[in-house]
Amino acid sequence: MTHLCVSLTGSTPAELSDIIRELPPSATAVELRIDHLHSPLQSSTEALKAILNATDRTVIATNRPARAGGKFQGDEKKRLNTLREAAETGADYIDVEMDSSARLGRIPGNTGRIVSCHDFQKTPEKLFSIYRDLKEAGADVAKIAVRSRTINDTGAIFNLMERCTTTDLIAIGMGEKGICTRVLAPKFDTFMTFASAKHDAAAAPGQVPCKQMDELYHFSSINPATRIYGVVANPVAHSMSPAIHNAAFTRTNLNAVYLPFKVDNVESFFEVFEHRDLRGLSVTIPHKQTMLSLMDEVDELSRTVGALNTVDIRNGRRLGSNTDAAAALQALQQAADEAEIQLEQSHILIVGAGGAGRTLAHVLADKSRLLSIANRTVERAETLAGETGGSAYGLDQLNSLDPDVLINTTPVGMHPDVDRIPVPPDILRPGMVVFDAIYNPIQTRLMREAEEAGCVIASGFDWFVSQAAAQFQTWTDRDAPRELMANVVRDELSGQK
Ligand code: NAP
Repeated sequence: MTHLCVSLTGSTPAELSDIIRELPPSATAVELRIDHLHSPLQSSTEALKAILNATDRTVIATNRPARAGGKFQGDEKKRLNTLREAAETGADYIDVEMDSSARLGRIPGNTGRIVSCHDFQKTPEKLFSIYRDLKEAGADVAKIAVRSRTINDTGAIFNLMERCTTTDLIAIGMGEKGICTRVLAPKFDTFMTFASAKHDAAAAPGQVPCKQMDELYHFSSINPATRIYGVVANPVAHSMSPAIHNAAFTRTNLNAVYLPFKVDNVESFFEVFEHRDLRGLSVTIPHKQTMLSLMDEVDELSRTVGALNTVDIRNGRRLGSNTDAAAALQALQQAADEAEIQLEQSHILIVGAGGAGRTLAHVLADKSRLLSIANRTVERAETLAGETGGSAYGLDQLNSLDPDVLINTTPVGMHPDVDRIPVPPDILRPGMVVFDAIYNPIQTRLMREAEEAGCVIASGFDWFVSQAAAQFQTWTDRDAPRELMANVVRDELSGQK
């Protein structure tokens, strides 16, 4: 079992006890960061006693000096003495830096020794020889925490995890790109990984709050057989996909985890993950187009649109598809059926010529009688119209168009500017299909006014949930728990407000 250890960066014994009371059961260890206490030399024993009284968890005592990324700035002998005292008081482990381990000498009692090596700038070469040096320096457990700057750095950390006796190893890639090394520690069966008590209390870059480890990634369910899924993007921090898909995997009892991967180089990403149980990916900006050339097979919609958003990995083959385009088409088709119009007989107006506009224009090029594309920057509308056989307009010409189907793909009306509307309201008429790509808010001003004008609505929220549900189905061959996924999106959106 891999311990999930919460770094306790509270400054008083009382504060530490309060933090411990809030921890989820999946946090099986805590680390007293003596260097974060108000008066480390005076109160470390008192703080450790408070922790030992408050919990049965495995307890580590660490007093990290400033040179190793900690806060302790005093005398080295006194610093090491706090670790000896921690052992005497009953800490299960003390953590000492490699260059101080010899000076610390023998430690009393049965307390184990974690010997650690940090590099906040880079992932050094030859991680395995660092591991051997740590063992030679007396480590019961060797801890290597290094900055993961690229996917190859992350790969080097996984290589180390695979090469070592992992039960005496803690290996962490610090920073956003290393988050997967923290979450996937139980897949490699390493001794421990670290989480913060709260969002604003990370003791190291990239440390994930323990609530997130527990509720988002279901850390205690991850094991060597867990399949890996994720979203490759850059940036990736605000993606809702991990929340949606992890909830769906848990609801359907699948042994799978979904991670955010901040990726610069997709080819290197595949090299690192493909032989490590990677089963599926969501793909978003900026990789939707470049991913196409890396697939073994690509579905027709992706080829039509020139971009994909889903990769399914089966028997070592990469299968690319575009659930974005498929779900948009489905949402539109449903609304058209309700309005009793045939898309193929309709004049479709797309407002916006960015990513969403492009997807819809390409999908609808041969599914409409007349395709109009209006955009703030007319040249972009012209380019897209040229590619799709449509006609291009500026936004000032909207009043002259009389579409059967109106699709907004601009962010006008999106949170927080929810009072804005992307088209003049008087172009809305009864029976028209109006599709707003925006999903935050769930009901936009355009949708409200269109409903009042007697239009039939297709919503960006349904589009968003449907493309995620279709990804789940693609990867798992199971029906997606759509209602649950919709609720997760609603919760995430209300959290953003
Ligand atoms: P994008 O690539 O940045 O394109 C934005 C488009 O909107 C461009 O055509 C841009 O015109 C236009 N635009 C931006 N600000 C404008 C303004 N103030 N007035 C008029 N036009 C403006 O963005 P995207 O990825 O296509 O996304 C657009 C919207 O669709 C977002 O709200 C996004 O959340 C939503 N979306 C929803 C889903 C879903 O699943 N529901 C999927 C994809 C996108 P210029 O060319 O002149 O810059």
